Amino acid sequence: MRISIVFIFLGLFTYAQQTYIQCGKIFDSKKGVLMSESTIIVENEKIIDIKKGFLTSEIPTDKIIDLKSKYVLPGLIDMHVHLEGETDPKRYLKKYTENEADRAYSSVKYAERTLLAGFTTVRDLGGTGVNVSLRNAINSGDVIGPRIYTSEKSLGTTGGHADPTNGSSRKLMGNPGPKEGVVNSVDDAKKAVRQRYKNGADCIKITATGGVLSVAKSGQNPQFTFEEIKAVVETANDYGMHVAAHAHGDEGMYRAVLAGVKTIEHGTLMSERTMDLMKKKNSFLVPTITAGKQVEEKAKIPGYYPDIIVPKALAIGPKIQSTFGKAYKRGVPISFGTDAGVFPHGLNAKEFIYMVEAGMPEKECIQSATITNAKILQKEDLLGQIASGYYADIIATDNNPLDDISALQNIVFVMKNGQVYKSVQ
Ligand SMILES: [Zn+2]
Repeated sequence: MRISIVFIFLGLFTYAQQTYIQCGKIFDSKKGVLMSESTIIVENEKIIDIKKGFLTSEIPTDKIIDLKSKYVLPGLIDMHVHLEGETDPKRYLKKYTENEADRAYSSVKYAERTLLAGFTTVRDLGGTGVNVSLRNAINSGDVIGPRIYTSEKSLGTTGGHADPTNGSSRKLMGNPGPKEGVVNSVDDAKKAVRQRYKNGADCIKITATGGVLSVAKSGQNPQFTFEEIKAVVETANDYGMHVAAHAHGDEGMYRAVLAGVKTIEHGTLMSERTMDLMKKKNSFLVPTITAGKQVEEKAKIPGYYPDIIVPKALAIGPKIQSTFGKAYKRGVPISFGTDAGVFPHGLNAKEFIYMVEAGMPEKECIQSATITNAKILQKEDLLGQIASGYYADIIATDNNPLDDISALQNIVFVMKNGQVYKSVQ
């Protein structure tokens, strides 16, 4: 008698700690298939088990989440966002008027929007350092947002895409160096990486070629020497960090892949030679097709961008999707990433539609945003799958995203770290 009371007590105690998610369909991101009628058991921030069928007996109803009519997936991972800002014709003026605190306050709503769109993890590829504080504030529970891996400030060369004083008057240009993320030698490269580590970065971003939205003439010239990139990669690897390289032009991209960067962002003018090198080196293309389409569209609005940017946006923007299609068909590894911030945060799932349009099957697109990205972040044991021992990052849709990928634009349920942020009930 006494023993059974103890068991009942223990049983209730266990239920009190656990949440039971009844799932109509679950996407197994490892196998790429849908499993039906299962129950995910969540305890604290982790998934502890998945059982066949809908467990109900003896479980208090307030511990059950009913997703029996839904399609359940692991939380999505976007490998290229900028949570500190968002597209705005005043952006170039704001550089001189805004303080970091202003950016911090706006980043709060961008982070929340991103999480509620089903992106439970992001890699933030460049800002002022507010992105490090934002990551910390989210981790400590002060701010609602996705789990962030951040590169802090991007590294560029003098006058390059990530030189923070591009487009300033000479009086305001100063002489930024490694501390500010500007590199002009192998030694600078090492110092700039170590400074990012000191500032709290999780990974490193370089701008291997010119870019569209910087106030500079070329959107594609190579901007680092091979030796400089190699020094960045070797130093970053010493600190357990991988390197992402922004690149539109082929020469800068080739150098970056050869030097060992993990991801190529945009990849606009990628040659077949570079594609083959990426396959060999297991570097991933992060397509950012949505950003390409956005800059092309906005460049047609007079005054939206400074004049020097317009021809670059019109030339580079529309090419990204077709290059992505070619790279995918040639077997280049693909990592899902959007460049959100260049377009409004929260619309990240648009990228899936453009990827499918360019020839990547729905199943592989979702895998690129889950299991693949978890691997690049070296979190393949914790992220990107609904499996025992993984973080309880779980989302759901009404319709089957394997039939119609646009289903991912309407996320009806979001759990991150075992906590529900968007609920169907
Ligand atoms: Zn970017």
